[in-house]
Amino acid sequence: KLGNETAKAELGRAAWKLFHTTMARFPDKPSVDESKALKDYIHLFARLYPCGECASHFQQILKKYPPQVSSRSSAAAWACFVHNEVNISKGKPVFDCANIGDWYDCGCAEEEKESMA
Ligand code: FAD
Repeated sequence: KLGNETAKAELGRAAWKLFHTTMARFPDKPSVDESKALKDYIHLFARLYPCGECASHFQQILKKYPPQVSSRSSAAAWACFVHNEVNISKGKPVFDCANIGDWYDCGCAEEEKESMA
């Protein structure tokens, strides 16, 4: 049981990291197609998340709080909010979403500058 809980927590940390970094890299001004892609991705992430109990719980959260995909800042704020919903249900502290923009950085910025040069 302890092993399962450890694996579930490790998976959760890795998944949240990917989730929030995806939002942090989403365009400020997405096209209709990009917004649709993010919305589909979030719904599929929730459906296929490889912890059944977590997946059904997260799908309930998405029903109540549909993905916000109109811009990077709205997607990042929404993702922070729904992660807090999971934190609350687990009795964990609520994360301050005010500085979410600085928190998740994949280190891709330099690469982007190079490719634009
Ligand atoms: P995590 O919650 O994994 O967070 C990792 C780090 O992200 C934190 O250390 C902090 O730096 C940062 N962070 C914290 N809150 C936020 C926020 N709101 N926004 C941005 N960054 C933040 N576990 C269960 O037991 N039951 C479940 O039903 C369940 N459902 C889950 C659903 C999903 C979609 C995911 C991805 C995970 C789920 N988990 C669930 C796992 C759980 O959320 C945690 O990942 C796990 O318990 C490890 O917690 P942690 O305290 O290490 O921090």
